[in-house]
Amino acid sequence: MSEICPICGLPKELCMCEEIAREQQSVRISTDSRRYGKMVTVVDGIDGNDIDIVDLAKTLKSKCAAGGTCKDGRIELQGDHKKKVKAVLEEMGFRTEVR
Ligand SMILES: [Zn+2]
Repeated sequence: MSEICPICGLPKELCMCEEIAREQQSVRISTDSRRYGKMVTVVDGIDGNDIDIVDLAKTLKSKCAAGGTCKDGRIELQGDHKKKVKAVLEEMGFRTEVR
């Protein structure tokens, strides 16, 4: 038996809830400088009820080959990865907004 989505009641492989949720989100991407002038890329505006943020952070970290953290619905990556993050998120179906 395959897993059933609690939202739409369809088996997970037919479920479009996460795809729809991604399209409905507007993810903000910005950069910030931290102590000692280190840049971080900040991704926020993600709804943690619909999206697995920990998993998304993992994907972004590996795509950008950067370290990072995930806290309170925000993902922070070390370094300036705005362009890469935007490309990866859009490829996954997210709407993004770069600040
Ligand atoms: Zn569903």
